[in-house]
Amino acid sequence: MATHHTKMLIIGSGPAGYSAAIYAARAMLEPIVVQGLQPGGQLTITTDVENYPGFRDVVQGPWLMEEMKAQAEHVGTRMMWDTIVSVDLENGPPYKAIGDSGDEYIGDTLVICTGAQAKWLGVPGEHELGGKGVSACATCDGFFYRGKKVAVIGGGNTAVEEALYLTNHSDDVTLIHRRDELRAEKILQDRLFKNPKISTLWNKTVESFQAGEDGALGHLVLKDTQTGETSTLEVDGAFVAIGHAPATGLFKGKLAMDAGGYLDVEPGTPKTALPGVFAAGDVTDHVYRQAVTAAGMGCMAALDGERYLAALEDEAAEPETEAAE
Ligand SMILES: Cc1cc2nc3c(=O)[nH]c(=O)nc-3n(C[C@H](O)[C@H](O)[C@H](O)COP(=O)(O)OP(=O)(O)OC[C@H]3O[C@@H](n4cnc5c(N)ncnc54)[C@H](O)[C@@H]3O)c2cc1C
Repeated sequence: MATHHTKMLIIGSGPAGYSAAIYAARAMLEPIVVQGLQPGGQLTITTDVENYPGFRDVVQGPWLMEEMKAQAEHVGTRMMWDTIVSVDLENGPPYKAIGDSGDEYIGDTLVICTGAQAKWLGVPGEHELGGKGVSACATCDGFFYRGKKVAVIGGGNTAVEEALYLTNHSDDVTLIHRRDELRAEKILQDRLFKNPKISTLWNKTVESFQAGEDGALGHLVLKDTQTGETSTLEVDGAFVAIGHAPATGLFKGKLAMDAGGYLDVEPGTPKTALPGVFAAGDVTDHVYRQAVTAAGMGCMAALDGERYLAALEDEAAEPETEAAE
């Protein structure tokens, strides 16, 4: 068991964490990234990424994250194979975090980039056909279904927004919901019902995702929640939109969060209410949820952290200057 001290402790190794690390390392803050159970974050479980700037051709999610990690290491980041199991924010700064390994991490600043995970239905075929027709992100994958038939599963704001977004690519979008009314805001429902490209299937749950002859998603098996009858729906793509769960369990009772568990930050900044504690990426963002926005917020957190430390140094230096005068 060891103690590691750094000027910037970064928890999480998705686009937000690696970007924060690149900026922090280049500012000589000698950052430590604790990578967690999913080194590289959510993009490591997808295939084609076509919307991250800088690449003319499609790149693979795992490759992109390896490159970000290599860049962060190249400029001087220390990567730790560990998962934070507890944090002490009451007695800081500096802030203390304990890893699953038993190691202790002490950060003069703390950047929380623990991300979020899409919620899945947990039915047969869903996992196996992930990236082959089953997705949890229309903004990310909708483009691959141009002119094709798609379904969205869910009944809240996210599901309705995903269905509306998909009409940019597809003329045949089916929204499948297990009840006979939506939870989404009225204004979104109005837009949905007015859109001729979207039809709704009420009182249906997805029993399984089935592959077609080509090995990609071919059809959904549905069950009627009222009659128990099963039916099938042929689709090329299915988007599970039943919500996301931010990884904020560690911070319950220690940092303010909204009703969905996303960390609260000062609007337009990554600053939490605690001095020197920042949150970046999907852990604080239930709206955009993109690699590029997460990376941008990671950059902002590192820059704000650097400025916070510089201000502390200035404060510490001031009395000496006065004494010298
Ligand atoms: C299937 C899929 C496809 C996607 N496709 C695209 C796409 O094409 N384009 C796009 O822009 N976006 C896409 N996204 C969204 C994108 O992946 C996310 O917006 C982005 O990864 C968020 O980055 P993040 O750094 O905030 O968090 P994440 O990527 O969620 O990373 C969170 C990190 O925190 C770590 N962590 C969590 N808890 C702890 C802990 N206790 N201790 C230490 N570490 C911890 C995890 O190990 C992980 O490394 C996709 C998402 C999915 C699921």
